[in-house]
Amino acid sequence: MTDLTKLTISQATTGLKNKDFSAVELTTSYINQMEKTDNLNAYITKTTDNALSQAKIADNNIASGNMRPMEGMPIAHKDLLCTKGVKTTAGSKMLDNFTPDYESTVSQKLAESGCISLGKLNLDQFAMGSNGQSSFYGGTKNPWGNDLVAGGSSSGSACAVSARSAIASTGTDTGGSIRQPSAFCGVAGIRPTYGRCSRWGVVAYASSLDQVGPIGKDVRDCAIMLSNMSGHDEKDSTSANIPVPDFEAVLTGDVKGLKIGIPKEYYIDDMPQEIAKIWDNGKKMLVEAGAEIVDVSLPHTKYALPAYYIIACAEASSNLSRYDGVRYGHRVSGKELDEMYELTRSEGFGEEVKRRILMGTYVLSAGFYDAYYIKAQKVRRLVANDFKKAFESVDALLTPITPSPAFKIGENQEDPVKMYLNDVFSVTLNMAGLPGMSVPVGLSDSGLPLGLQIIGKAFDEETVLKASYALEKQAKFDATPNI
Ligand code: GLN
Repeated sequence: MTDLTKLTISQATTGLKNKDFSAVELTTSYINQMEKTDNLNAYITKTTDNALSQAKIADNNIASGNMRPMEGMPIAHKDLLCTKGVKTTAGSKMLDNFTPDYESTVSQKLAESGCISLGKLNLDQFAMGSNGQSSFYGGTKNPWGNDLVAGGSSSGSACAVSARSAIASTGTDTGGSIRQPSAFCGVAGIRPTYGRCSRWGVVAYASSLDQVGPIGKDVRDCAIMLSNMSGHDEKDSTSANIPVPDFEAVLTGDVKGLKIGIPKEYYIDDMPQEIAKIWDNGKKMLVEAGAEIVDVSLPHTKYALPAYYIIACAEASSNLSRYDGVRYGHRVSGKELDEMYELTRSEGFGEEVKRRILMGTYVLSAGFYDAYYIKAQKVRRLVANDFKKAFESVDALLTPITPSPAFKIGENQEDPVKMYLNDVFSVTLNMAGLPGMSVPVGLSDSGLPLGLQIIGKAFDEETVLKASYALEKQAKFDATPNI
C-alpha cells in the first residue's frame, strides 16, 4: 500500500469512500509518522489512543453510509485551542497543569465534521513569536533542516503538516502566525477574516487581532477545513453572523478577469534578491492563469509593524492579567498576596511574554496612552483605509509573505526588534482584519521553500482561495522535505 500520510484530505476522503483503506489504517499511518518525526518536537501532547477509538467510530460511520464531510481525517490542534479533558498549555509553564473542561468552538466543529485529533501542537508561548523557540516545551524544528526554525507562533502546526505527522492542523494568526510558519515549512495556510471563525475557547493573545485558521498540504485542503470550522457562534460576540460559503467550490483554477494589485510599498529597502524574484514569478504565474496585474499603493504600510506591536502588547498585557495564581494555572505561594502574584508571574511566564506585558503596560499607562496607544489605533484606521481604497480597483493583492526563507535556530534570538521585523509583510492585514493566504511557490537559492501571500477583502476568502489555487497550479510546487 502507498504511504497513506502522503495523501491530501480530498484524496484520503476518496480513498475512505472507495474502501481502499480504513480510517484506522489512515490514523495508524499518522501515528507511526508522529513517532518517526518525534525529534522535530511538533507535538506537546499526543492523544493517540483516543484518535484510534475515534477512527473506529469513523469506520462504522463509513460502513453505515453516514460519512461526515471530514470523516476520519487525522488532524491536530495548536495548543492554544482548549480541548476538553486534554491538557492545553499555550506553550507556557503558566498553563502546564491546565486541563479545560470545555472544548473550543472551532475544535468542536471540526470534531463534529468527522475530524480525529492526534494531539496538541507546539507553539511560541502564548502565541507570541516568529520562530517557535519560546515554548516551555522546547523549540520546534523545521522538517526541511533540523538546524532551522519552523516559524512561529504556530510552529508545530506547520511542522506537523510538512512532516506528515498530521493531515492538516489548526493555527492562529494574530500577526502572521499561520502564514509565516506555513511559508517556512512549504505548506499552505489561510488566516480568515477577523470574525469568520469563533475565538471562543482559544487562549487570548490580542483579542482584536486573533483569528483561528487552517494549515494544510494544499489550498484545497485549507478550503475544505475552513468550510468546516467557520461560522457564527453565540459565545463569541465578534464572530460574524454571515453565511459560510462552500470554499472548495471556487477552486476552478480560472482567474480570468481577476484584478490583482501589487502594492509598491511592499518593495522594502534591502529586499533580498530571491524574494523579489519569487514575487515577480508570482505575478507572471497569475497573468498566465488569466489575471490582470495592477499597481496599487498602500501608503501607510511602513507604520503598520510598529503600531501592531503597540496594540498587540497592550491587549496582551490586559488579557494575561488573568494569570494571577488564583484563577488558572501555575502558582507559587508567597508570604503576602502581592508576593504570591509576583512569584507566580515571574516563574510562570517566559521572557518574551514578560517583555510584551511590560511594553503593553507601558503604552497603556497614563502618561503614554495618548502618545503610543491612541496613536497606534489611529494608524490602524489609516492602514485599514489604505486597503479599502486599493480594493476599489482590485479584487486581491499579491505580496511576499516573509523577507527570507526559514532561518537558523538561534538567529535573531538576542535581538527582539530584529525578530519583530520578520513580520513586516504579515501584520498589516491583521490590523485591517482582512484574510490572507500563504502559498508555497518555489525554492530559495539554498533549497528552502518560499511562499507568496494573497490578501483579500473582508469576508472574501473565496477570491483569496481562488487566486491562491491558481498560483499553486501554476507554481507546481512539489518539493518535499527529506524525512
Ligand atoms: N510574530 C507575531 C507576534 O509575535 C505574530 C504572532 C501571531 O500571529 N500569533 O506577535
